[in-house]
Amino acid sequence: MASKLNILFAVSEYDGIVKTGGLADAAGALASVMKEKGHNIRVIMPAYREALEKIETTSIASGAVVMNHNETLWFGLRHGRLNGIDIYFIEYNDFFDREGLYSSNGQGYLDNSRRFAFFCKAALESCRVMAFQPDVIHCHDWPTALLPYYLRVDECQNDFFHNSRSLLTIHNAAYQQHTDVSQLEALGIGWRYFNPACFEDSDQINILKGGIAFADKINTVSPSYARELLTSEGSHGLVDSFRRRAKDLSGILNGCDYQQWNPVTDPMIPANYSSKDLSGKQLCKKALLERMGLPITVDKSVYGLVSRLAEQKGFSYLVPALREFLQQDIHVVLLGSGDADTAAELQRLQSDFPDKCSFYNGFDNALAHQIEAGSDFFLMPSLFEPCGLNQIYSLKYGTLPIVRRVGGLIDTVDDYDASGAKGTGFAFDAPQPDALLVALKQSLDVYHRPDQLHGMRQQAMSCNFDWQTAAVRYCSVYQSMIC
Ligand code: ADP
Repeated sequence: MASKLNILFAVSEYDGIVKTGGLADAAGALASVMKEKGHNIRVIMPAYREALEKIETTSIASGAVVMNHNETLWFGLRHGRLNGIDIYFIEYNDFFDREGLYSSNGQGYLDNSRRFAFFCKAALESCRVMAFQPDVIHCHDWPTALLPYYLRVDECQNDFFHNSRSLLTIHNAAYQQHTDVSQLEALGIGWRYFNPACFEDSDQINILKGGIAFADKINTVSPSYARELLTSEGSHGLVDSFRRRAKDLSGILNGCDYQQWNPVTDPMIPANYSSKDLSGKQLCKKALLERMGLPITVDKSVYGLVSRLAEQKGFSYLVPALREFLQQDIHVVLLGSGDADTAAELQRLQSDFPDKCSFYNGFDNALAHQIEAGSDFFLMPSLFEPCGLNQIYSLKYGTLPIVRRVGGLIDTVDDYDASGAKGTGFAFDAPQPDALLVALKQSLDVYHRPDQLHGMRQQAMSCNFDWQTAAVRYCSVYQSMIC
């Protein structure tokens, strides 16, 4: 059994270079831990305009990929380093020298399937160019989901990749990337693989579905979400695909970057605090209320939220529940960006309860830290949640999460137990205002019982979800593929 592995991370985002979501955090953190463990890790990603502006790179080689019988595309290979990790960039300006990663002005690029199909092929070709024979190619989400297919089908006769295996990590199975069947040849997919067991999905090509079929192993980012993917309700329409691969599918909980998210050291909050001395939390609360333009009455409980404004996050029933809950003597502080209709609803909530509710429409990392620190409770009523990070941050900040019992929220939050001071948060099942209101009222009761609140905070703040634990699990999946 090889202990030090050659690992290629094929990613569309990487923390510190380009990021739209949790995939970037996970890839960045995991690559660092793998490097610490002594593995020979290389990261490969598209040379987006934004990436080349962020990090210094040098051109090291060029290569060519054959997309279909009559089309060969030449690309440049650039190299840069970030935190000691070697990062390689596929340079092909027609595809990647654009304003956004996947879209601009809210419109997804129409050629996204081809852009990332090309990237997957170029990533494989780059291994050959660099004479880097990976034991494991670790792919992430639909943008790199075609790579396992190319590895298995196109490269099967090729000695170079004889010992290479692929792992596909699914950070969010709702994003699958459907494309018209007329694109099969342009994507380099053989017609014989356009069937329901591989790429076919309601007469279209489904790229994530193909990745699930061809990766040697698949994992997602929490054990509970992995179980949900095997059910009709929780699989985002891919239940048959996941069930076919059930024995190769696992759930590995993401870690949290406690260097950035820790109230003891966080430079973005007005006062630091620890579980031993929570006095700073009170100062954070005051500062948060002031910043959000609310009356500074620290005896009232504060409910915070930091979220993409997207259907997944449960706004359809959160808003009516809050409308009722705001009749209580509480404060609600909301930070979000995304869907314009949801933003308008939150704006209305603020207008209707100007002394109790404040909404900031935008993306503001410092404010996200301040909400984690200054709130008493954190709202996370997601319809589904592959892992979720905000509830993990909340625990560390002693801000008890109120969560729907789904996915990673199940795996990270222990439900309150009315008989004692047990639990780290409040969980409920039905995605309905009434069910959420029960949990909200429980939390308010606890707020008025300081001993119980303190006990729950202590338990929450002692939770640790670190990347070291996740990395050990990933290493055992890697080893299981190459044995
Ligand atoms: P998802 O990846 O589904 O959006 P997560 O909870 O896993 O949800 O991660 C969201 C991350 O993005 C967290 O780090 C959170 O603080 C951050 N975030 C989301 N929306 C905003 C916002 N409007 N402003 C600042 N940070 C945000």
